Amino acid sequence: MAQSAGFCYGVKRAVETTKKIKAENASKKVWVLGELIHNSHVIKELDEMGIMTVDVLPENETGICIVRSHGMAPQKIKEITDKGFEVVDLTCLDVKKVQQKAIQLAQEDFLVLILGKPEHPEVVAINANARIYSENVFVVQDLDSLKELTDKIKAHKRVGVVIQTTQKIELLEEIIAYLLPISSELKVFNTICKSTTMRQQEAKELAKTSDLMVVVGGKNSANTTHLAEILKDITSTIHIETADDLDEFKNLIEKSENIGVTAGASTPENIIKNVIEKIEKI
Ligand code: SF4
Repeated sequence: MAQSAGFCYGVKRAVETTKKIKAENASKKVWVLGELIHNSHVIKELDEMGIMTVDVLPENETGICIVRSHGMAPQKIKEITDKGFEVVDLTCLDVKKVQQKAIQLAQEDFLVLILGKPEHPEVVAINANARIYSENVFVVQDLDSLKELTDKIKAHKRVGVVIQTTQKIELLEEIIAYLLPISSELKVFNTICKSTTMRQQEAKELAKTSDLMVVVGGKNSANTTHLAEILKDITSTIHIETADDLDEFKNLIEKSENIGVTAGASTPENIIKNVIEKIEKI
């Protein structure tokens, strides 16, 4: 098993603090706008404790509203506060750093490129923060979407880059290689967080000596999906959410001699433990 598999410090902090807030404020309603972490088992557990996950905060309600580790647009935080909710900001410190770097680039009149998935809440929040200071802020999810901005980049000359904390380093490398010849000033902040970098490196090492890699975590979790994508280039890889999903891969597991296991930042320890036990049993 990869050493850094499972909860990262940002996710651990978000889950533990949210539970603590509910325990200390039993009479108040506690809301989370969007999933606290991308794991349905944890969301169910929070729900049973009375911590409600919603897409939109209900009207005529009050209570505590948690800003999850992905962060939130400042305008949205103000809107929630104005409605009378008490906001507790649990944005991961590494995500805050990306927001600050993007703001800095926007203030220094760089054309800001945020590398990541446009619809991911972390990227939405980084974008919203930087756009307060400049209109020249763009989300780039791959080389094709960067190419569409070529004229703008050439015209602006100063280009600044940040990247979603859970992205692959390969995306940053590919984007820089394209930008170097067409921009006269290029400022790059590698904002992939340490936890993601370590997790990806350890998993890659493990994959080199494994016939099969099992990646455990939510299908909607960005960092888990990236892990599986990276490992598929090295060895045979499957992405599962729980031990039950192993049933359809029984033959593959039986055929494999060395099996490596890793997990995303939002995968709880007990789910990883169950997966390992089931693999051993098979
Ligand atoms: S993956 Fe990185 S940025 Fe995201 S919560 Fe964990 S430590 Fe923070």
